[in-house]
Amino acid sequence: MKEFGLFINGEWQAAKGGKTAPTINPATEEPWATVAVADREDSRKAVAAAKKAHDSGVWRNKSPQERGEILQKVAMAIFERQNELAAAEVQDGGGTMRKAMSMDVPGTAQTFMHFGQYICGDEYKAMLQEEYDEIAPVPSKNYVVREPIGVCVGITPWNFPMIMASWKIAPALAAGNCVVLKPASVTPVTSLMVGEICTQAGVPAGVVNVISGPGGAAGEELATHPDVGKVAFTGSTEVGRRIMQLGAGTLKKVTLELGGKSPNIILKDANLDTAALGALFGTFMHQGQICESGTRVLVHESIHDQIVEKMLAGLKRIQMGDTMEMSTGMGPLVSSAQRDTVEKYVAIGKDQGAKCVAGGKRPANLPKGYYYEPTIFDEVDNKQRIAQEEIFGPVVSVIRFRDEDEAVRIANDSVYGLGGAVWSADKDHAVAVARRIETGTVWVNDYHMINIRFPFGGYKQSGVGRELGKWGLAEYHEVKHIHVGENTPPEGKFYLQLLLN
Ligand code: NAD
Repeated sequence: MKEFGLFINGEWQAAKGGKTAPTINPATEEPWATVAVADREDSRKAVAAAKKAHDSGVWRNKSPQERGEILQKVAMAIFERQNELAAAEVQDGGGTMRKAMSMDVPGTAQTFMHFGQYICGDEYKAMLQEEYDEIAPVPSKNYVVREPIGVCVGITPWNFPMIMASWKIAPALAAGNCVVLKPASVTPVTSLMVGEICTQAGVPAGVVNVISGPGGAAGEELATHPDVGKVAFTGSTEVGRRIMQLGAGTLKKVTLELGGKSPNIILKDANLDTAALGALFGTFMHQGQICESGTRVLVHESIHDQIVEKMLAGLKRIQMGDTMEMSTGMGPLVSSAQRDTVEKYVAIGKDQGAKCVAGGKRPANLPKGYYYEPTIFDEVDNKQRIAQEEIFGPVVSVIRFRDEDEAVRIANDSVYGLGGAVWSADKDHAVAVARRIETGTVWVNDYHMINIRFPFGGYKQSGVGRELGKWGLAEYHEVKHIHVGENTPPEGKFYLQLLLN
C-alpha cells in the first residue's frame, strides 16, 4: 500500500499527532493508500512555512519570466508522470481511466502551462504596471501596480482533485504568492503529488505546501489564520458560506466556487441527436459529480418526446464498470455516503411525482463498488426538490417548456447560477437566449467545455469571484496606486491652504 505524508516546506512530513488514514478505491471498496491526517497544528506549520518563504522574497522577487518558466516545467513534469498520476486519480476518486488520461492529467498540466506562458507575455506586463499622467487635482504621474497578496490558501473538493489543485496553485504562484492547499480528505493523493512535483520542478521549498485533513479542523484553521491573505475555496455552498464567515474575522479576500443546478435548454430548432447526447454528457460525465452539470434539461414541448427517446437510446452506449479499462465511460460514485445521497434524492423524486424512466437503482452486475445507474426523471416540475437541490450524482430532470420566455424563467428559477447551455441551429439567437440566463458560464451547442483562458465562476449562490484566465489571475493580486507629485516649493501645493493660513 502506498503511503503519503504531508508536503510542507519542500519535504514529506508526518502529521504532528502521528495520525494516518486509508484512502478507499470507490470501485473496489478497498483501501489503496494511507495518508497523514493534518490537524490544526499542522495547518499552522504549513502557513508558517509559506509565510517564511513569502517574506524571504525567494518567489515573489523572481521576475514573471523566471516564475513562468518554472511553471511550464511543472506542466512538463506532470505530463511525464501522467500514467502514475492518472492511476492515482482513478483509485482515489473513482473516475475512469479514460477521463483521467484525457481530462485530469492534461487539464492539470495545461493550467500550469497556461499561467506559466501568460505571465511571460506582454499582456501580463501591461497588467502588472499601468501608467497615467494627470493634471488634476495636482499634476502627477500615477502608477497602478499589482503585487502578490502573500499566503494564499486553496481548499478543494473531491470531484476533480488534481485539476482543482492546479486551479488554486498555478494562478497563485504565477502572481508571486505562496500557497497552502488542503484537498478533500477522501481524495488527497494527487494534490500531494502535484505539491511534490512543483518543488522538483524548481519551485522553492515552502512556496507550495499541501496538507490533507478534515475540513472542520485543518480547514478551519487555514480559513481563520491571521497570516493568510486569501482563501480560494471550491466545494459546497453550505461550506462556502462558512468559509466566508471564517474569513471575515481578519477580512480575508475570499473567492468561492460552489454548487449548481444548471439548465441545459434544448430549443426546437436544435440538432436533436446531438442535443440528446449532449444532455447525457452534460449530466452523466463523471457520474454527475461535476458542479456545472446540466442537471435540468429544459426541452421545448414540440420535441420533448423525441429528445427523451434519443436520451434513452443513448444510455445503451454508456458502459459502466472497471474504472481502469479504457472502454469504461462511467465509474462508481466517490463514496457510499455520496451514493446514499443519490438514493435519497431518487426516492424524493418518485415521492413528489416525477417519472423515473431510466435507472433509479444500483446496477445488479456490479455488486462491489459505489456504482449507481444513470437515472432520468421525466415530466419534472421545476419546483420539485430534485430540480432545485444539488444531488451531485447521475440524476437528470427533464422539464418541458412552451416558449422561450418560459424556458428562461425556469432556467433562472434557482438559487444557483453556475453553468448551462442552449442548443439551437441559430447561433446568434442562442447567444441572445444565453445572455438572459443568470449563470457564470453558458455554452451554445456544447457542454462541459471549460477553457482555462476564460473566466469560470458563479452568479447567485454558486460563488463569489472568478477563476481562470486573466480574470482569475487578477484575484491573486493586491492593487496599489502610487501617486508621484511634483517636487515644488510649498506655494506649488494649493491644497496646503485647506489647512494653513
Ligand atoms: P465540501 O464543501 O464538503 O468540501 C470541500 C472542501 O472543504 C474539502 O476540502 C473539505 O475538507 C473542506 N471543508 C469542509 N468543511 C470545512 C470547514 N468548516 N472549514 C474549512 N474547510 C472545510 O464539498 P465536497 O463534498 O468535497 O464537494 C462537492 C461540492 O463541491 C458540490 O457542492 C459541488 O457543486 C462543489 N463543487 C463546485 C465546483 C465549482 O467550481 N463551482 C467544482 C467542484 C465541486
